[in-house]
Amino acid sequence: MTQLYAIYGASGCGRSLMPVARQQLARDNDLSEIVFIDDALIEIAQINGHRAMNYAAFINESAEVKAVQIAIANSRVREKIAQRLEQDGIHLWSIQADNVVLMDQAKIAAGAALSPFVTIASNIQIGKCFHANLYSYVEHDCVIGDFVTFAPGVKCNGNIHIEDHAYIGAGAMIKQGTPDQPLVIGRGAVVGMGAVVTKSVPAGVTVVGNPARIVESK
Ligand code: UDP
Repeated sequence: MTQLYAIYGASGCGRSLMPVARQQLARDNDLSEIVFIDDALIEIAQINGHRAMNYAAFINESAEVKAVQIAIANSRVREKIAQRLEQDGIHLWSIQADNVVLMDQAKIAAGAALSPFVTIASNIQIGKCFHANLYSYVEHDCVIGDFVTFAPGVKCNGNIHIEDHAYIGAGAMIKQGTPDQPLVIGRGAVVGMGAVVTKSVPAGVTVVGNPARIVESK
């Protein structure tokens, strides 16, 4: 059975995740090709040694099984593309770097991208298309929703719940919750780079600083 794998997005995120995708296939002893998909491409190109094409051209490729990692940081775009892939019968592909540490009972849904030096501790639940960028960690008993994005170096401590579409900026640190009172980062909230989050963050707001405070929209 012929299989074709793809990294969707050939910008910064995609080009950094392609080597992770190669590690994933090598571990699976799978010699299939990995291509880039990027809708900005008009014709088939070569990017960092891989064929690159738009989605229409990918659909026309003859492989029997296709699996795609959506390597685009914007979670709304990831969701839209995930819906299209599901309609077209294409699998969401999870990839992780060779040196990722996964402890006990980490349940991670399809489409995850775990970059080099990521650690996922024990008893953790993570939704669809999670991105954990370089050196991020998720400590014990966290519950993470769908389409959540961690920039590099996010420190997500124990008993934290992060709802769908939240974005956590580079180097942000989130204080641990407790089993009966988890710290909650609400749906679609944005945590700024380097923020130190000491209490729950409501849905949809942006917080920055130490201690992190809501940025009022003008
Ligand atoms: N892109 C795409 N299809 C879409 C939306 C985005 O192929 O429906 C591509 C876009 O052309 C760009 C990449 O995804 O090359 C997103 O790159 P960007 O620099 O915005 O962000 P990154 O996620 O790489 O940080």
